[in-house]
Amino acid sequence: MTTINQNTGSLSGRSRVVSNKEMTFAERIYLPAIVKGFGITIGHFFKKSATIQYPEVKRPIAEIYRGKHVLKRDDEGRERCTACGLCALSCPAEAITMIAAERKEEEMHLYREEKYATVYEINMLRCIFCGLCEEACPKEAIFLTNEIVPSDLHRSDFIYGKDRLVEPLGKRVDVTHRQTAKVLAFKKDKNQSHNS
Ligand code: SF4
Ligand code: SF4
Repeated sequence: MTTINQNTGSLSGRSRVVSNKEMTFAERIYLPAIVKGFGITIGHFFKKSATIQYPEVKRPIAEIYRGKHVLKRDDEGRERCTACGLCALSCPAEAITMIAAERKEEEMHLYREEKYATVYEINMLRCIFCGLCEEACPKEAIFLTNEIVPSDLHRSDFIYGKDRLVEPLGKRVDVTHRQTAKVLAFKKDKNQSHNS
């Protein structure tokens, strides 16, 4: 049975009676409280700022930071992606969509594999930058980079297509720092069916 606290009239017993104590002279003129407040403010002037003036100033981020994706080309400049769909399948956020097409004879210099992605899109608002797409890719075609996805005003602008994902020919993206010895050894392991 619930008992009511006789002193406070509270069911939980946690309420407190507000003090009716008369304020002292110092409390009534608020001066000590104001001086104390200024003291706290001035104290913060001499502390190291916890914020930075972004975007003018940028924090250093790790080389293996998981940011905007890149669809890599091979040494001959051909797109590596073969539109197998493993990245989309492994994506927990269902952020990747693609449409595959068959490579034509005259497109041999553009695409490395017989099949390629004619449309490849990543919804950056859905993406949680987990890196699973990078891990799943058997062709070393998709990597995350240490580039931060910039803010934008419209949701549609966060759907990144091939125009923003495929590595520009004149500005190759170095991803060697992402490929640690362990990762490279795993990718050579023919016992892993998707590495063959
Ligand atoms: S990083 Fe993760 S969430 Fe983003 S596209 Fe790749 S698998 Fe999906
Ligand atoms: S897993 Fe790699 S090769 Fe397959 S569709 Fe994704 S990026 Fe392309």
